[in-house]
Amino acid sequence: MPEPLLGQAALVTGASRGIGRAVALALAEAGANVAIGYRSRADEAEGVLREVNRRGREGIVIAGDVADPAVPAALVEAAVKRWGRLDVLVNNAGITRDNLVMRMSEADWDAVISTNLKAPFLACKAALRPMLKQRYGRIVNVSSLAGVAGNAGQANYSAAKAGLIGLTRALAREVGSRNITVNAVAPGFVETEILSGLPAELLERARQAAAIPRLGTPDDVAAAVLFLASPSASYVTGQVLGIDGGLPM
Ligand code: NAD
Repeated sequence: MPEPLLGQAALVTGASRGIGRAVALALAEAGANVAIGYRSRADEAEGVLREVNRRGREGIVIAGDVADPAVPAALVEAAVKRWGRLDVLVNNAGITRDNLVMRMSEADWDAVISTNLKAPFLACKAALRPMLKQRYGRIVNVSSLAGVAGNAGQANYSAAKAGLIGLTRALAREVGSRNITVNAVAPGFVETEILSGLPAELLERARQAAAIPRLGTPDDVAAAVLFLASPSASYVTGQVLGIDGGLPM
């Protein structure tokens, strides 16, 4: 197995389960030491840490709610304190609070924007200091097909994920000359807990409508994140890579 990230330090938010877990393990497999951000499930985060260690890498677990504005920078600082650098930042933590706009509470709007958009902004801002210093960095933001196409019942989530694409592109322009790339992935329907609230017939329709007629897996997304996080993706920036089985074609 090639190890393009050997000796690098990575931070993945929301890495205790789902897509974040798969990304953390893919980065470790490729050689990186990994800081595992998580909110509440300490046992699952410890399980990911053990898997990182099993791949011969170092890891740390760091608890914190990224909707607290102090937390994103604290996650970055913990990784930099441990390894003296930060090469890869993956903003993955995300939530849904679905409702039609007419029924959506302001609290549900704010919660989704804080977690899915403001937190990545704050993490990017904190990560730029070490990345600019080392003149190298890879930032990958986990957006969504909902942020590209919009999704009824998910105005807050669609707005946050579309905003994340705007952040990705603006920042890509700001730091491209410093050997820092900023990209996004836009998964379609991926089998994780986040889908648990969706009706089964909606998922079945999505499955049938995709060119590749199945739901995505966390590993499908992790493979794309790994590419964008690798040194070899040095001429790719400001992009939004759909990981959706061809659903929106
Ligand atoms: P998931 O619910 O299994 O995982 C979400 C992760 O984010 C968890 O580890 C959770 O602890 C963490 N998290 C949530 N809120 C947090 C907070 N305030 N502070 C710290 N951590 C927090 O879902 P997933 O599908 O693995 O989601 C990962 C990312 O992928 C999210 O950004 C989600 O929006 C995005 N995404 C998922 C799909 C899909 O179909 N599963 C599609 C498009 C985008």
